[in-house]
Amino acid sequence: MIIDWYPGHMKKAKEQIAEALPKIDLIIEVLDARLPVSSANPILAYLRRDKPCIKVLNKQDLADDAVTREWVRYFDRQQNVSAIPLEAKERRSANALLKLGRKMVPGRGIRGLKPLRVMVAGIPNVGKSTLINTMAGKKIARVGDKPAITTCHQQVDLRNGILLNDTPGLLWPKLDDQAGARHLAASGAIGENAYDTSSVAVATIAELSASYPNLLKQRYKLPELPETSQMVLEEIGRRRGCLVSGGEVDLHRAAELFLRELRDGKIGRISLERPPMTPSGTD
Ligand code: GDP
Repeated sequence: MIIDWYPGHMKKAKEQIAEALPKIDLIIEVLDARLPVSSANPILAYLRRDKPCIKVLNKQDLADDAVTREWVRYFDRQQNVSAIPLEAKERRSANALLKLGRKMVPGRGIRGLKPLRVMVAGIPNVGKSTLINTMAGKKIARVGDKPAITTCHQQVDLRNGILLNDTPGLLWPKLDDQAGARHLAASGAIGENAYDTSSVAVATIAELSASYPNLLKQRYKLPELPETSQMVLEEIGRRRGCLVSGGEVDLHRAAELFLRELRDGKIGRISLERPPMTPSGTD
């Protein structure tokens, strides 16, 4: 069970975004490319109505390229929406993003015309602050911040026709769907105190055994995957020396190690969610 630790903040966050939106021409919704469904909050679609929106599939360096391309095709079919995969730290990515933004809102964002007013929004830890700083070319948003509610909205003139909200629109993760909540936990989007590390690791191993069995085998040097996901985790623990006295596997430590390696991309480029109708299994 994953604990929902946002309820107190939700109403205020929603009000702040709703209040800022009339002065915004373009919403940049930052999603995690590995889990574009669970890292979204549908409240934004409700609040934005038909305002142009770019879905940034961030952390593309950690996601499966083929699946990310499917997601771009999927989102591009939506009204007034474009999707772009990127790495928030890369200046090149930010430039491509702004170019797409100018294309989506004609008549704004070019020197001499009206500025393009942009808000970056998303759940905690998807990379909003990193992206804001890259777009601004300097540090204006705090990276790695704990989930918090921003108190004032200021716009920063990027001097290239873009006016950027210096604080992100903070959405909260939706945790009512168990599979989605597990994906968020596995990706590192929610705090460790909110979930049981071993159960998240075992469930994630079950998913990877179906969609990326070879990556799991290669990373942990397993000629075959043991029968159950719990047994896979035990084997990972044994091979990596996560043992308690007596030689038993310390499942909690093994789970921590597995999830850390997954988040760092050491197992490989892995997508946890695919658009509807995409066949699973690409390795
Ligand atoms: P925010 O809470 O949405 O503002 O997220 P942050 O910008 O603070 O980023 C959360 C974490 O994700 C930080 O450790 C960033 O370094 C990391 N991060 C952000 N963008 C990327 C990316 O494109 N790739 C990878 N691998 N890590 C990223």
